[in-house]
Amino acid sequence: MKARTLLLASFLLCSLFGSFLAAEQNILVFLGPPGAGKGTMCKKLSTVTHKPHISTGDLIREQSKAQSALSKELNSYLEQGKLVPDEVIFKMLIERVSQEDCADGFILDGFPRTLDQAKKLVSIFPDKDRLIFVNISVGDDTILERLQGRLICSDCAKSYHTSFTPPAQENQCDDCHGKLVARVDDEYTVIQKRLEVYKKEYAPIQSFLKSNYQWVDVKNHSADECYAQLVNKVNSINTEFLD
Ligand code: ADP
Repeated sequence: MKARTLLLASFLLCSLFGSFLAAEQNILVFLGPPGAGKGTMCKKLSTVTHKPHISTGDLIREQSKAQSALSKELNSYLEQGKLVPDEVIFKMLIERVSQEDCADGFILDGFPRTLDQAKKLVSIFPDKDRLIFVNISVGDDTILERLQGRLICSDCAKSYHTSFTPPAQENQCDDCHGKLVARVDDEYTVIQKRLEVYKKEYAPIQSFLKSNYQWVDVKNHSADECYAQLVNKVNSINTEFLD
């Protein structure tokens, strides 16, 4: 049953992405460890380019708030720092990228996370020129420091840090006054698990993609510097991606 569902999801994903291909979308794909700043970079780029930021993590968190058997299952993956099964991810991604706003391309964050997901992605986007992979690197100490102090607005998802970027009012979002909360997976042992999963899965993804596809490496010491680097490097490949 599981295999059949996966097959169907793969088929749907191929047909759907296939149909988008005709629309000549340019797709920026962000890779990097948890806490690398993928979300921050993607949000900024999305504002500038008007292309949607699609985060598989955000899609899962949204879905996990519902009262359903699936949401319980998703919460359990999130709380343990484990990857959600492919059939769930594919279905969510299909629903999201089939929306009108993705027709001119999008910015993908959190997918692919395994070699299988990477292979799937490039098989459905055979035009290599329309894909750029952006890999953000950052040290483990920085990751721990960032994630352990991270707070997210429960209404608008804006991100804060208790020491580096605190809100004006404690536990309240500056923009929408929503309540600030820590993510369930930003707890020390779960962060360690997420890092472990990332390190195991990342090496094969990199060796598969880096030499065969358009690839940009950036270091995230500071958000402004990282953003400037990635804009320069992406533009040096093709200026249309950040139009
Ligand atoms: P981070 O990059 O900081 O770990 P995300 O918000 O991207 O955070 O992901 C949070 C969680 O959502 C992951 O730990 C995993 O459980 C799940 N997830 C997100 N994307 C995927 C994916 N492509 N495949 C499987 N699970 C995923």
